[in-house]
Amino acid sequence: MVGTQAAWSNWAGNQRSTAALTVRPRTVEEVAEAVRHAADTGRTIRAVGSGHSFTATAVADGHRLDLADLDTGVTVDPARRLVTVPAGMTLHTLNDLLAGHGLALPNLGDIDAQTIAGALSTGTHGTGAKLGCLSTFVTALTLVTGTGEVLRCSADEHRDVFAAARVGLGAVGVLVEVTLRCVDAFVLRAHERPAALAAVLDDLPGLVEKHDHAEFYWFPYTDRVQVKTNDRVPADDRPLPRWRGWLDDEFLSNTVFAGACRLGRAVPALAPGISAVSARALTERTYTGRSDQVFCTPRRVRFVEMEYALPRAALPAALAELRRIVDRLPFKVLFPVEVRFTAADDIWLSHGYGRDSAYLAIHQYVGMPYEPYFRAFEEVATDLAGRPHWGKLHWRTADSLATAYPKFTDFLKVRNRLDPDNRFTNPYLTQVLGA
Ligand SMILES: Cc1cc2nc3c(=O)[nH]c(=O)nc-3n(C[C@H](O)[C@H](O)[C@H](O)COP(=O)(O)OP(=O)(O)OC[C@H]3O[C@@H](n4cnc5c(N)ncnc54)[C@H](O)[C@@H]3O)c2cc1C
Repeated sequence: MVGTQAAWSNWAGNQRSTAALTVRPRTVEEVAEAVRHAADTGRTIRAVGSGHSFTATAVADGHRLDLADLDTGVTVDPARRLVTVPAGMTLHTLNDLLAGHGLALPNLGDIDAQTIAGALSTGTHGTGAKLGCLSTFVTALTLVTGTGEVLRCSADEHRDVFAAARVGLGAVGVLVEVTLRCVDAFVLRAHERPAALAAVLDDLPGLVEKHDHAEFYWFPYTDRVQVKTNDRVPADDRPLPRWRGWLDDEFLSNTVFAGACRLGRAVPALAPGISAVSARALTERTYTGRSDQVFCTPRRVRFVEMEYALPRAALPAALAELRRIVDRLPFKVLFPVEVRFTAADDIWLSHGYGRDSAYLAIHQYVGMPYEPYFRAFEEVATDLAGRPHWGKLHWRTADSLATAYPKFTDFLKVRNRLDPDNRFTNPYLTQVLGA
């Protein structure tokens, strides 16, 4: 186990902390030891993943736990399609591991840089009307509690802990091992096409229900969207030529887009024109590929983000209000708005608890003003019974979140039992959990 003091910042660069001690345990016993050591010195301790949250959720003021070296072993049960892995493994490593066994996760978000524990802890999701967030794929978890106890939970063991810890905000324990239910490896056919926003909203069920995975991006100051659908197909018979993948995903989506954002930041009056050109520049394309490689793309242009999960029926009203907000802002918005869909689940602090959701994500290029934009949208989303993504910027506090989550009090009870001295707390948890 290595212990050092080190400065940390998240991917977006908007959160920073210097912990008194950073610990890299290699075994579960070393994790428990680190928790007990923090208790002995009267300090808090917090696990961090890949630092891809925009909120201060991973900020560690006391001791920081980095689980990159934690090796609990890998078990694959191909017949039951179950895999048990160390919780600090990245999604990228997991996807390659699964592919080697002819397996895959049923769904993924836009990137694969997160750790498994980090992604689960904030309710990370992809898109798919019949699929819940990544935490719904978990069948068992092992965690170290605030008193240094090692606890395994599943639908049969410590059911309340299982309901809380699958989206646990790092508040109920340090996740050390995760069992995930996978599916047979599959190929996706991606179809991307420009469309009019009104036409997409007119036939939303047609888009969302008929495809395995559907989403769209709205370009501010325009009535244009780019629709993306991914559907399972039997054969990988239309792979993107290497140069086209590089041109679209690396050059246009990252390099050219970065240049456009820098130009829009330097000369804000150009932003609406840039948005319109971006919307028109995106053309139709269809390709096939391994599921995780279609779901996930590199994101090198840095931004800050807020995302709200809304009851699905509230999406048109939210978008209409968002258009009004964007038009009235004293600055320009340089990033498109992403809309995705997930199915209801039963995880207490999952954004999708008990209801089908439409997720609406708003972004702003780093270095540009964003707070009035995000705050104005937060007001609209809160009125529409929205729930903020735990890893993306928001200003909601425990009082209002308690009304948004029916099992909020049950979550607090589990947390108080497993972490009676708030060993895992930080200012973000105080904001959202109230203590
Ligand atoms: C470019 C980009 C794209 C993104 N795309 C998506 C997307 O498509 N869908 C989506 O839903 N989100 C997305 N996100 C958000 C991201 O998935 C979440 O914020 C996720 O939590 C980040 O995981 P991480 O490993 O970086 O964890 P961190 O951000 O480092 O930590 C997140 C939380 O997990 C806790 N934690 C970490 N490890 C453990 C552990 N072992 N035990 C207990 N708690 C732990 C931390 O304390 C913290 O509370 C994106 C973010 C970025 C920057």
